[in-house]
Amino acid sequence: MPLFEHPAFDGHEAVHAFNDAASGLKCFIAVHSTARGPSSGGCRMWPYPSDDAALEDALKLSRAMSYKCAVADLELGGGKAVIIGDSRTQKTPALFEAFGRAVDQVCGRYWAAEDVGLTPGDLAHARKFTRYVAGLDGHPAASGDPSPVTADGVFRGIVLAVRRAYGSDLKGITVAIQGVGHVGGFLADRLKAAGAKLVIADVNESNLAATAARTRAEVVRPDAIYDSEAQVFAPCALGGSITLETLSRLKGRVVAGGANNPLATPEVGRALFEKGLLFAPDYVINGGGIINVAAEIRALDRNEAYEPAWVEGKLARLMLTLDEIFQRSVDEDRPTNTIAAEIARARIAEGRKAP
Ligand code: NAD
Repeated sequence: MPLFEHPAFDGHEAVHAFNDAASGLKCFIAVHSTARGPSSGGCRMWPYPSDDAALEDALKLSRAMSYKCAVADLELGGGKAVIIGDSRTQKTPALFEAFGRAVDQVCGRYWAAEDVGLTPGDLAHARKFTRYVAGLDGHPAASGDPSPVTADGVFRGIVLAVRRAYGSDLKGITVAIQGVGHVGGFLADRLKAAGAKLVIADVNESNLAATAARTRAEVVRPDAIYDSEAQVFAPCALGGSITLETLSRLKGRVVAGGANNPLATPEVGRALFEKGLLFAPDYVINGGGIINVAAEIRALDRNEAYEPAWVEGKLARLMLTLDEIFQRSVDEDRPTNTIAAEIARARIAEGRKAP
């Protein structure tokens, strides 16, 4: 399909394709909007079945980043990088050095950070060739791995959603977590400590075994996670897992997790609402990571140190916004994802008007 007519294109400012034959790097960097500031978003490495699938993921994810930065009230726009490849077998320092050179060619309109398949160590190789990398360790402005902050926000969002849907705290509540990598793993620890019961699934056996050993979670096959007797379904793997079919199998009243773009289509958001489920919009509940990254970019720009109090202030405000979205959904009888998207689009439009 021609790029400009792609359904996920949605007014992107720029889409870059990079190929480095020596290292094997093939990646897309999509810049959705710089209306509120330079674009920022994680870099994902995944063995996409086709270039088209990778491009579509980059487009959808970068738009979600624009919405996420706007809802979190950050002076950043939305961008995303995807590297085509298997992070378990194809990572090399040379690949990430080539990625760093690619990021540098976008001239500061995109700041890279960590997403699925990457670690701060990978980004350290990219950082040798560009300053536009955040989420690193080892310097005063460094914010480190964003996943614990993302998981912290998701945890707080689940607490808010459970209070609204069940009028209770997490004790005795069962949460089904799809994907126990960085975010899902930290989330499992927080939920367990708060008294929740856990059911988990992952396609990566070692992540699954490690999380099960720490939390004594019940383990189910990847496809069986939708059938769990759980009050909360927490998607923490890749996007698009909630379809009309998987939605029909969920038993609980809350869908709230860390995964970006968990709804296969916007219509699934309406179907969730009509079925009486409370959905925490992904780019609201999982905004902790980008807040953490923003703290590093802010500190680098000001030549200051990373400030945990600034991160906590932004995260606390974001959770108030999430609760306001839940309340407006009741008051206005409209899906949460529709309300969240309106807030995001209005803030991006304000950014465009600013001098
Ligand atoms: P990760 O790679 O560490 O973990 C993802 C896990 O999902 C892996 O263990 C993987 O094996 C598993 N998985 C993949 N397909 C699966 C399937 N079909 N069923 C079950 N498990 C499956 O990535 P992460 O950093 O934890 O990110 C998870 C999600 O959260 C992604 O959608 C990401 O975009 C989003 N997110 C991450 C951050 C962050 O700070 N890392 C911030 C915001 C959003």
